[in-house]
Amino acid sequence: MSLRLGIDVGSTTTKAVLLDANGAMLQSEVVATGPDGRAMARHLRDELLAAAGAAGAESGSLRVVATGYGRARVDFADRAVTEITCHARGVRFQHPDAAMVVDVGGQDSKVIRLDAAGRVEDFGMNDRCAAGTGSFLDVIARRFGLDVSELAALHALRPAPFEISSTCVVFAETEVVSLLAQGHPVNDVLAGVQRAVARRVVTLIKHVGLATPVYFSGGVAKNESVRREIEALLEVPFAAARHPQLSGALGAALLAGEGGASGGDAGAARWS
Ligand code: ADP
Repeated sequence: MSLRLGIDVGSTTTKAVLLDANGAMLQSEVVATGPDGRAMARHLRDELLAAAGAAGAESGSLRVVATGYGRARVDFADRAVTEITCHARGVRFQHPDAAMVVDVGGQDSKVIRLDAAGRVEDFGMNDRCAAGTGSFLDVIARRFGLDVSELAALHALRPAPFEISSTCVVFAETEVVSLLAQGHPVNDVLAGVQRAVARRVVTLIKHVGLATPVYFSGGVAKNESVRREIEALLEVPFAAARHPQLSGALGAALLAGEGGASGGDAGAARWS
């Protein structure tokens, strides 16, 4: 059996997707990257192959593409491909109508515009500033003893009544503490944090130039509050990709199958 593995070594999490020769998903996993991306990538490879009953496939019938911030650490990959290309490919596979992909991860955000054939036409990236990334939310959530998914759920029911103004996460923590001291309800303040992240992402989208349909990808796409805030600011539908955090690894796995005899994207219908 010929297999394709995509590994996305991100700043925060490492994702892996294992596809069969037809593009149908056999296994996937998301784990914290931790201090040693190289070891984590090897561990994931072995775990997914074992779970698929294909331990030992790495010796011949496996093609591997690595992507993500730490892609150079994946020393067993056949090749490395940028996250821009992989996210574009992964989201287009899940949503063939996608004209734009917005990927917000732990430490950067990217806006990718696609042409009619799904090729990358233009993109913009913010990797200089935590505002507009998951780490901004993670720091604030930790400050309040919350998991980031709890932070996202806090605000799922209504739009933020106001927005915090600090873009530096250290100042943002101070601003949050002082708003709480003034008596603002905690849910309103935390909603304001999520609106601030959404605002930064929308600024990047506008910089590249909005194209629709637009899909949300990356781990922060699992944050329903941020997704809704961005949608409200854009005033167009802004759906999360079906498997947002896996989009880059999926794109890498699909690219691993290209150029060989292993078929195309025939598994699309089964990827639900
Ligand atoms: P990277 O590829 O840069 O490592 P990811 O795309 O995995 O990053 O995104 C990580 C971010 O996703 C985290 O910083 C966190 O804010 C967010 N995230 C992950 N899971 C959830 C969840 N269940 N709910 C809300 N946010 C989440």
